[in-house]
Amino acid sequence: MRVLITGGAGFLGSHLCDRFLAEGHTVIAMDNLITGNTRNIAHLAGHERFLFIRHDVSNHIFVAGHIDAVLHFASPASPIDYLKYPIQTLKVGSLGTHNALGLALAKGARFLLASTSEIYGDPLEHPQKETYYGNVNTIGPRGVYDEAKRFAEAITMAYHRAHGLDTRIVRIFNTYGPRMRLDDGRVVPNFIGQALRGEALTVYGDGSQTRCFQYVDDLIEGIYRLLNSNFTDPVNIGTTHEMSIAEFARVVNELTDNPAGIVFKEAERIKDDPQTRRPDNTRAREILGWEPKVPLSEGLPKTIEYFQDVVG
Ligand code: UDP
Repeated sequence: MRVLITGGAGFLGSHLCDRFLAEGHTVIAMDNLITGNTRNIAHLAGHERFLFIRHDVSNHIFVAGHIDAVLHFASPASPIDYLKYPIQTLKVGSLGTHNALGLALAKGARFLLASTSEIYGDPLEHPQKETYYGNVNTIGPRGVYDEAKRFAEAITMAYHRAHGLDTRIVRIFNTYGPRMRLDDGRVVPNFIGQALRGEALTVYGDGSQTRCFQYVDDLIEGIYRLLNSNFTDPVNIGTTHEMSIAEFARVVNELTDNPAGIVFKEAERIKDDPQTRRPDNTRAREILGWEPKVPLSEGLPKTIEYFQDVVG
């Protein structure tokens, strides 16, 4: 296959590039580099089946030649990033998705949308099944991302129904691993960065809010299986190992031998921060035969090692 990966220089996009190249496919990575970085794909420079194009997909996308699959992963994806780039986040989720869909239609390609657990908002149903409609504050600070992704799902299904486009939607839950940006503001790079500098970990609120952290390799496997399936409804990909943020902080401190402990920062907690989050991943298990394989005890040390090089 010849695949286009938008956001190809980002955290997830770059791992997808690696996976598709390893499977023998040809990869075109496209990124405007506002939150992505060519460092993530530097090891692919000169690869005969790899091409990087710097482009903002919120503008018309031109790619010469045939394309078999479009994977739309371009978007700021951390709360800090989408607060910094609210308009770009809305544009890439709406106009960018429209352009990527239009390209897929013109090329007769399959289309896969990177959606998110954020479409469930601060969920009133727990755990979250794909059938849950969500609880999103349209005008809150997270609304720019959540609503853009909800629109992206809607327009993807519209292209599927109106044009018969072959589409897939993955709803991605919290994912961590090498190539996250140290300063993206998310809890994993924040905690690991602080721990490696011997600082106290900043737990926002009282730390009772929960998340489930999956290792990037598990997610990539799920996405690869989904693309190769014939399933067109959304699929949650995430682990069900739920923990509070305070508990997660203790795990990070333990793994890094950080004696500095934790500090609670009530004021830093962003409005509408979901209090709980855990996927119901039955659909992925049943339809894709997928299950998360990498426990925190294996994935976190690899991620810490990566950040050790970054922090220096
Ligand atoms: N969080 C925290 N300390 C930090 C960064 C984040 O306690 O330094 C909390 C944040 O309030 C949220 C959780 O960790 O409840 C996960 O935040 P993140 O930004 O990683 O992703 P989200 O799941 O909210 O999109």
